[in-house]
Amino acid sequence: MPGDIAAAAEILGNAKRLVVLTGAGVSTESGIPDFRSPGGIWSKYDPREFTFDRFCASAEVRAGYWDMGASLYPMLRDAEPNAAHRTLAALERKGGLQRIVTQNIDGLHQKAGSSAERVIEIHGTALEVACLSCGWRTDRDSIQQRFADGDRDPHCDCGGLLKPATISFGQAMPERETAMAFEDAEAADAFLVVGSSLVVYPAASIPGVAVEHGASLVIVNREETPYDTHADVVLQGTAGVLLAEIAATLDLPITDA
Ligand code: NAD
Repeated sequence: MPGDIAAAAEILGNAKRLVVLTGAGVSTESGIPDFRSPGGIWSKYDPREFTFDRFCASAEVRAGYWDMGASLYPMLRDAEPNAAHRTLAALERKGGLQRIVTQNIDGLHQKAGSSAERVIEIHGTALEVACLSCGWRTDRDSIQQRFADGDRDPHCDCGGLLKPATISFGQAMPERETAMAFEDAEAADAFLVVGSSLVVYPAASIPGVAVEHGASLVIVNREETPYDTHADVVLQGTAGVLLAEIAATLDLPITDA
């Protein structure tokens, strides 16, 4: 049943326990490229360079990571939410939205007005830095500045390695948050995917869990996904445009946060 805004709006508008999964595609209209589209981040950087094991093992790899951050992090920090993020915040204000599980590391859902406790950042956040030994956290600006000032391998006061608080390839997912995302999916009566290729696991399996437990599924993405055949409604196109149409159908006020 592709392309039916009214059908999608009815499912989302009537949901009592809506869970949303967002991927890089929800933020491309905010100027942050995704990983897999042509011109995406991975056509410029090689992900194999930045596995968790390599980061931990080599000061040279760590310096390369902070160096990549010097160009990528300001883009993430300064991006502004778009109509898709704002529609999701409006759905929360309306009531019935239980959780946004995001694969993104850009903090744009919170910037758009979604409350922090309703957002699970399943791949962490690029806006903070964490110590891999004692867990101390701080904002990323101060550590990028230390790197810019000549500290090529920033460490914590405890001696531990500092790393942006994102989940790298080969790094364990945050246990509590991942478990919560699956629990929310099991309890959902409706599930919305926005801007995810649904090929990165385990996040990609969350919509399937929701459907197995009886949720209706709406997918908004520019290209096909492996879960389209399980969806009640598939809207293929631009997230900001399609979510703004859904917001208009539901008469949801879209405001800046
Ligand atoms: P992905 O790159 O695998 O897929 C993004 C999907 O969004 C693609 O199918 C693409 O066609 C679609 N898309 C792109 N722009 C769109 C738009 N405007 N409207 C609708 N669809 C659009 O991303 P993913 O599934 O999130 O998976 C992978 C990883 O990417 C995650 O681990 C995440 O941490 C990381 N990532 C995050 C950011 C960010 O924080 N903004 C950016 C790049 C990558």
